[in-house]
Amino acid sequence: MPQDLSLDTVEELAHARVQDCYQCGKCSAGCPIVERMDNLPNQLLRLLQLGRIERAAASAAIWECVSCMTCTTRCPKAVDCAGLLDALRQLSIEHGFASPAQRRTILFQRAFLDNIRRNGRLAELELVRQFKMQGFLDDLSVPQLFKDALLGPQLLRRRKLHLRPRRVKDRKLVGRIFARCQANGEKP
Ligand code: SF4
Ligand code: SF4
Repeated sequence: MPQDLSLDTVEELAHARVQDCYQCGKCSAGCPIVERMDNLPNQLLRLLQLGRIERAAASAAIWECVSCMTCTTRCPKAVDCAGLLDALRQLSIEHGFASPAQRRTILFQRAFLDNIRRNGRLAELELVRQFKMQGFLDDLSVPQLFKDALLGPQLLRRRKLHLRPRRVKDRKLVGRIFARCQANGEKP
């Protein structure tokens, strides 16, 4: 059952207070992908302050955010802007606002988290395989399936891709972290 589309829910999920924002715009000034956003980070904060939660959660901008945390670290009022966008993404999924084009981002995030849950750190090849297979079952065409294959050798040369997954020793601990997040109402 979806959570309430209310400011209380957004603030609870993000552990942040929207009213602390005084609209200085520093978050938007530092955001690296602001040109792709239909609503700038501070404008999303304004929508929340005005109680227009549905409009903020349906904004395409929340799916452009790459969670770099620049906005959060720059905020003079310590408002966790990145966390608020995270909360909006969660509500957007629950309430079915995500468009088909955004579904692939959701698939990637799920595959990424599943990978971390199992390995404790990223196993790149496993992630690519899982993401591509899920995407293929969803709507990826065969050319899209192999689109990034030529990047593989370069990534291997630069040691950005590891053939063998490097797992952490205490994976039970990672499992407990995920379980605690779920208990706190966060959707991994
Ligand atoms: S930097 Fe902080 S206070 Fe300034 S607009 Fe962004 S969220 Fe609001
Ligand atoms: S976390 Fe998202 S909104 Fe914040 S600066 Fe990075 S990309 Fe922009």
